[in-house]
Amino acid sequence: MADNETFDVIVVGGGAVGENAADRASRSGLSVALVEHALVGGECSYWACMPSKALLRPGAALAAARAVPGAEAAADVDVSATLARRDEVAAHWDDSGQVSWVESVGLTLLRGHARFTGPRELVLTSEDGEQRVSARHAVIVATGSAAIVPDVDGLAAAKPWTSREATSVRQVPARLVVLGGGVVGVEMATVFADFGSEVTLVVRGDRLLAGAEPFAGEAVATSLESLGVTVLFGAEATAVARDDDGVHVTLGDRTVDADEILVATGRRPRTDDLGLESVGLTPGRPIEVDDTLAATGADGGWLFAVGDVTGRTATTHQGKYDARVVGDVVAARFGSDETLRAAETDAGPWSRYRATADEASVPQVVFSRPEVAWVGHTEASARKAGIDVRVVPYDLANLAGASVLSPDYGGTAQLVLDDARGTIVGATFVGPDVAEMLHAATIAVVGQVPLARLWHAVPAYPTLSEVWLRFGEAAGL
Ligand SMILES: Cc1cc2nc3c(=O)[nH]c(=O)nc-3n(C[C@H](O)[C@H](O)[C@H](O)COP(=O)(O)OP(=O)(O)OC[C@H]3O[C@@H](n4cnc5c(N)ncnc54)[C@H](O)[C@@H]3O)c2cc1C
Repeated sequence: MADNETFDVIVVGGGAVGENAADRASRSGLSVALVEHALVGGECSYWACMPSKALLRPGAALAAARAVPGAEAAADVDVSATLARRDEVAAHWDDSGQVSWVESVGLTLLRGHARFTGPRELVLTSEDGEQRVSARHAVIVATGSAAIVPDVDGLAAAKPWTSREATSVRQVPARLVVLGGGVVGVEMATVFADFGSEVTLVVRGDRLLAGAEPFAGEAVATSLESLGVTVLFGAEATAVARDDDGVHVTLGDRTVDADEILVATGRRPRTDDLGLESVGLTPGRPIEVDDTLAATGADGGWLFAVGDVTGRTATTHQGKYDARVVGDVVAARFGSDETLRAAETDAGPWSRYRATADEASVPQVVFSRPEVAWVGHTEASARKAGIDVRVVPYDLANLAGASVLSPDYGGTAQLVLDDARGTIVGATFVGPDVAEMLHAATIAVVGQVPLARLWHAVPAYPTLSEVWLRFGEAAGL
């Protein structure tokens, strides 16, 4: 590559989000470079969504089989076969498949660590040296996030695992302490309990999955305990030490001993080594954006950010949604197609040029056992938003579809209605196999569909989706 090469658009960060933004921006004929300093495909492909789900699936499949007479599986999870499958799902940490895709859609892949040197200008550092590149029109930052290691006495020196070490594990520890009761903590506690580790889950608050309905966290806590996990609520690590016997985690007046400690206490945007100070932004902070994903703190309209780095989204699906928006916005604003430019200028809230689904309709699935899936408001968040709320709970065990899955099926679903309008503003499902039920609720929330209208959307018998019929009955239709 020539020094100081210029592209119409440069995307920094080749994770799932950056790849999608770059692809979308390039469809209008703009030249687009994608910069990546590690593996193209990012966290989701190699250390997050995909390997974690590969690690969780065998335990879930066995539990489903064990739950139904006629298919009771006797065996435990086969750890080495599970790890081998995880390796395949993570493409053996080889990004050549993703690189082929990047090239096939006409993007230029640049390898190296990118830092801004000024507006629209970057220096890329790799083992081959330094390279300067410039963007004629726009830079989109999609550098993602990294695990936070909390400032606990001795923790950093004890070489804790983050989600990366947990999802790429080769040696299963006999004893594992997990700090944090959010999605990552819950999913990884499940995996290592399935693998036979003695797991202690340390939770600062009084419930798991604090962003979900309280009944979801309660069901998951009960289930983790039945898997042998010790769940400690109201507990906080105050000191950690490692010696030849393993790690020793002080929780106030008690100590838990383990072989490894996993920190799952949140993530921070990867902006600390990006040269943000040269474009007027603060390193270490998320890059704040508006609904077109334009950075609100930078002048000139050339800087955009998308994905985890914005602090606005924390999932791949929502980041990719924003990626499609920012790619289209950049294509319209800087490409030569006047029709696209006019459409972007006139864009309303339902337009594909505005990321309006980042507020009241975000879907989230936790692949715990039971699965937890929710979209939009919880009862508490709806009340906080000033909505006159009506809650419609339903016991999924009453459904014929549930009894087909297992005579002992246990699960709960709950709708949150805007009582004045009769529309659905939130839904939560907790139980085996509920993840795939979520999108029907997402469509209802985004479409602002009145529950009365859904009376005419007939669910097939005998499926779990019959809960929609029961919701209608419970609401008095
Ligand atoms: C254990 C775990 C499980 C998860 N499971 C799910 C799930 O099931 N479903 C879901 O939707 N979400 C899940 N998530 C969240 C999901 O992984 C993230 O939301 C997603 O990866 C964000 O994508 P991104 O492209 O913004 O960032 P990333 O995937 O982090 O990609 C950023 C890329 O930028 C590169 N980069 C960073 N800085 C530079 C630089 N200066 N120069 C060049 N390159 C740079 C990085 O190497 C990386 O490849 C999970 C997260 C974790 C931790």
